Amino acid sequence: MDILPYTQTHKDYRERLKDFIAREVTPNADRWEADHQVPREAWEKMGREGFLCPCVSSTYGGMGGDFLYSVICTEEMAKTNQTGLLSLLHSDIVVPYIEAYGSEKQKQKYLPGCISGQTITAVAMTEPGAGSDLASMVCTAEEERGEVVINGAKTFISNGINCDLVILAARNPEVDNPHKAISLYLVEEGTPGFKKGNKLDKMGMHSQDTAELFFTNCRIPHENRLGEKGAGFIMLMQKLQQERLVCSLWALAIAEYTLNYTIDYCKNTHPLGKALSRDQSVQFALAEMATEIKMSRAFVEQIVLDHISQEDVVMETSMAKYKTSQMVHHIAGQCMDLIGSFGGEEDCPISRKWRDSRIMSIFAGTNEIMKGIIAKAMNL
Ligand SMILES: Cc1cc2nc3c(=O)[nH]c(=O)nc-3n(C[C@H](O)[C@H](O)[C@H](O)COP(=O)(O)OP(=O)(O)OC[C@H]3O[C@@H](n4cnc5c(N)ncnc54)[C@H](O)[C@@H]3O)c2cc1C
Repeated sequence: MDILPYTQTHKDYRERLKDFIAREVTPNADRWEADHQVPREAWEKMGREGFLCPCVSSTYGGMGGDFLYSVICTEEMAKTNQTGLLSLLHSDIVVPYIEAYGSEKQKQKYLPGCISGQTITAVAMTEPGAGSDLASMVCTAEEERGEVVINGAKTFISNGINCDLVILAARNPEVDNPHKAISLYLVEEGTPGFKKGNKLDKMGMHSQDTAELFFTNCRIPHENRLGEKGAGFIMLMQKLQQERLVCSLWALAIAEYTLNYTIDYCKNTHPLGKALSRDQSVQFALAEMATEIKMSRAFVEQIVLDHISQEDVVMETSMAKYKTSQMVHHIAGQCMDLIGSFGGEEDCPISRKWRDSRIMSIFAGTNEIMKGIIAKAMNL
């Protein structure tokens, strides 16, 4: 079932990316997980070889590719046993804000580094007291005499340690309406008053440097505001469609990887003199998982097509994000059961996938929030 219209150029790009992963990611993944950090050079290598921000226009040094290149990058990176070199966050979630809302000067200044991997990005919305309810954020941005003064804290920020550039959401304390108070700002690493806090010790996604960020009388030039003053909330909402779509593609690709690994394991393991895969209960379990994955893929790929056609697929991406994030963790758990005790070993990639996938139903909007969006779209 070929839903997505990949050309030979797309296919060649995928093969080149697989080769890059085999050379530069797979041999290092276990070390990055153990170190709880990916070295900056890994980002730079990925950028040098053309695998960061493939959709950014050639005007800024990008490939100017279509969204299918993002799909390819997300899928192939999902199969690696690490989450720190999280190119989808950088390429498909953060950088699109700069491309879509940045001034020409901002694009010229930042996009080339984002493409080359010299500028690693993060987006900082969540605060200790404001996660799902972004309107309640309290980090302030006060514009005075050509500068913006930022005060507040952000938490759970992916790429929080490695980032060179943060897209920060902060509110104007003089405006009460939260939907008109929030603006987005570009804050560079090294700006006085901007401090990176602790790397958070998560149950999974160990190589992903999720961290706290602190801003104390942090002054940035007025021209570092991204887009219109007070339009931050709308910009965040507009970009969530693509964010949730890539998260769905990521979850789906991990589920496929996990199932394929397990099928292989069951075919090649003979506990009672015959392959595990010859047992009917094992066959049924694998058949059920394959069915669930295939049905999800058909749905998600249709959303990809609609997203490329710039249709409003907010309800569908919410459905996909909720369903795939739930499915991937369930499948990783079932696969661990089929594999047995080796499934719980650190050496078995499935244990890492199970751990990592647990938090997918929380970031980029929790599953309860997804169901709320779906219910609203259903006019319930
Ligand atoms: C690994 C990881 C990476 C992250 N990366 C980033 C990042 O890069 N940038 C960033 O800004 N944030 C990031 N986050 C934060 C993430 O987006 C938030 O954790 C998420 O939005 C949920 O917010 P919360 O944790 O404060 O939970 P809360 O919003 O406090 O929710 C707690 C519970 O209440 C439920 N709930 C809340 N509101 C409602 C409602 N209206 N209806 C029904 N139920 C509700 C939730 O579903 C959940 O079950 C990351 C989080 C994780 C775990």
